[in-house]
Amino acid sequence: MKKIGITIAACASLFLLAACQSKSETSLDEKKLNIVATNSILADMAENVGGDLVNIHSIVPVGTDPHEYEPLPEDIAKASEADILFFNGLNLETGGNGWFSKLMETAHKKENEDYFSVSQNVTPMYLTSAGQENEQDPHAWLDIQNGISYVETIRNTLIDKDPENEASYNKKADDYIKNLETLDQEAKEKFADIPKDQKLLVTSEGAFKYFSKAYGLTAAYIWEINTESQGTPDQMKQIIDQIRQTKVPVLFVETSVDKRSMERVSKETKLPIYSTIFTDSLAKKGEDGDSYYTMMKWNLDKIHEGLTQ
Ligand SMILES: [Zn+2]
Repeated sequence: MKKIGITIAACASLFLLAACQSKSETSLDEKKLNIVATNSILADMAENVGGDLVNIHSIVPVGTDPHEYEPLPEDIAKASEADILFFNGLNLETGGNGWFSKLMETAHKKENEDYFSVSQNVTPMYLTSAGQENEQDPHAWLDIQNGISYVETIRNTLIDKDPENEASYNKKADDYIKNLETLDQEAKEKFADIPKDQKLLVTSEGAFKYFSKAYGLTAAYIWEINTESQGTPDQMKQIIDQIRQTKVPVLFVETSVDKRSMERVSKETKLPIYSTIFTDSLAKKGEDGDSYYTMMKWNLDKIHEGLTQ
């Protein structure tokens, strides 16, 4: 964050006024906090809290999987210049090839000084596949209560770095959290009417553990974590058996995965894929689900509709 002083004397002349105005706009812009977020979901949360006081760069492009990523030269430059970097943690960008840890080393950034895990106050859930039981499941944001905890961490970090604007960050975060709370409470009431033997949420990746716990469903999946991208024959057999033991009416597929495995499950079980849903990325700007709030609303609406068929 650079502070450029504008001398009042320079603005005294009418001829220079126009030039001074445009210069003062640039200087305001340069006073903004430069924030880098690892993915579109975190970038949207930071934008909701920071508003006009921040510039935001999101690293992993919309529609792509943030588990594995190869930072571009532009990402390295933005990361080096950033005042604050937000990452999900819980093994999302730090699991698999660990691309975020490497990027922070390259950019000479330090944890809890420059870069912050937004999930630091969330109670982690763990993977269940054999040999992976000690690994945290990253998808905490799919429970809105955890999303709210992310927003609080973002708010506190912005206030620490930029205490002058504390009132603005508090106000924006309060309004945002209030909307998220309402969405969460309404969904919890609505989900109670799904028949018990239809409360199975079938997706490709096992990304819905936190979500399913919050909204009273059982999460079923082909593969557990997106370091894989196609179901093995064993995984395919297991999910098909699991589906056949219930009366679940529909399947779902995530926007940021390869859809072919779920299409095969659909063919085998003769159950339709009811809708795409969002996990690790927002929708493109201007489309339904292009913010954390609207992606969660989309997921909750579609899953409820599908499971009450
Ligand atoms: Zn994922």
